[in-house]
Amino acid sequence: MRPDPTSVPAPLHGTAGELGFRTLRPWLAARFGRTLHRVALDAGSDCPNRDGSKGRGGCAYCDVEGSGTGALKSGVDLASQLRTGIERVRKRDPDCRVVAYFQSYSNTYVEPARLDEVLAVLEPHLQREIGVVALATRPDTLPDWALARLARLAERVEVWLELGLEAADDAILAAINRHHSVADFRGAVERAQAHGLLVVGHAILGLPGDGRAGARRTAEVLAACGCAGIKVHQLMVLRRTIFEKRWRAGEIETLDERAYVEWLADFVERLRPEQVLHRITGDAPDADLLAPRWELDKNDLRNRLADELRRRGTRQGSRAN
Ligand code: SF4
Repeated sequence: MRPDPTSVPAPLHGTAGELGFRTLRPWLAARFGRTLHRVALDAGSDCPNRDGSKGRGGCAYCDVEGSGTGALKSGVDLASQLRTGIERVRKRDPDCRVVAYFQSYSNTYVEPARLDEVLAVLEPHLQREIGVVALATRPDTLPDWALARLARLAERVEVWLELGLEAADDAILAAINRHHSVADFRGAVERAQAHGLLVVGHAILGLPGDGRAGARRTAEVLAACGCAGIKVHQLMVLRRTIFEKRWRAGEIETLDERAYVEWLADFVERLRPEQVLHRITGDAPDADLLAPRWELDKNDLRNRLADELRRRGTRQGSRAN
């Protein structure tokens, strides 16, 4: 039976407890009794920051693929993306289920008929290979009809709604062309939660002008909103973004590994103990990433964060209000 999406996640356990922060894999194993692997999907949605209804050119850090795979534009239809993704992960792990992850652009910025069409592609795989449906979208493109549609889906499968906050400061959000406010984010989380959806909040540490205090403030807002999951990563400068030009002009600095681990520790200390960290670092195709170019991989970074918390004698939630 599917876990109750409104239930408060279980306390820290296993390796997450030893690390001092709560990671996704053990949480999924405890919740579903098996491993889940992510299958990234591109539904060909658009974004109000790109089509001119709010802005053009996108958020300053976002590349032209809308932070996604660009698969649909390459001619791979959605059903094939899903089928191929499931086959790929099941070759590695025949017993696993998948997180069907609509990653690119704003997936509720569509007409109702289009969302129905997109979700219909999941039907043959629901309650079989798919354990979770995750949709990324913006806090200001979440109409009531979309929430109602996702709430109906959530009666059959766990649904995660991924919402970008990025930084808890309206001036920073304006400077990076997000075209929504912190209040929009808070309101969207509240409405999604009222519909029984688990919300995963996104944050970026190191945005220009945000600083270490900004990292702390963002964690405090994500904690106050009660997002079930958190994705956080360092500012990355990618090719084909607004930030690329500013970085080439020397106007933007990115964090080195040491500073990022310190800021991340501040951030994690201010989350609630039960919030699950879906990711703590970003990655991008080597050909697209301009800065920062770190030597650390994900495991190194996880261990460095655990070491930093141990050195401070703190853990996730130590400084939560
Ligand atoms: S990050 Fe999201 S909201 Fe911003 S431009 Fe990219 S797709 Fe649009």
